[in-house]
Amino acid sequence: MHELSLAVALVEQVGEICRKERAERALRIEVVVGALSGVERDPLEFCFPLAAENTVAAGATLVVEEVPVTLACRACGERTRPEVPFIRCMACGSTNVEVVEGRDFLIKTVEVI
Ligand SMILES: [Zn+2]
Repeated sequence: MHELSLAVALVEQVGEICRKERAERALRIEVVVGALSGVERDPLEFCFPLAAENTVAAGATLVVEEVPVTLACRACGERTRPEVPFIRCMACGSTNVEVVEGRDFLIKTVEVI
């Protein structure tokens, strides 16, 4: 499953952070999931405890923050939130747009002890 490998990668990154911080384990992990990141919240939350088993992230709380898509329009300059999956400017309808937010899957904060 796609989300399981993502959860494993997430746990590896958390392990890395714990090593750097000389922390014993992670208590709370906040991640940002963009609407266009391809990551689904529910399967990620389901897979996380499985991936975290026997690691420094075992028993940690996973907080998923979902970020909507924001587009910057090259035609009219407006920043709007499209109705995904239709990636076009909500102000003028142009598809000449740049995704400025909503693409990322990343760790926001990790609380450790
Ligand atoms: Zn526009």
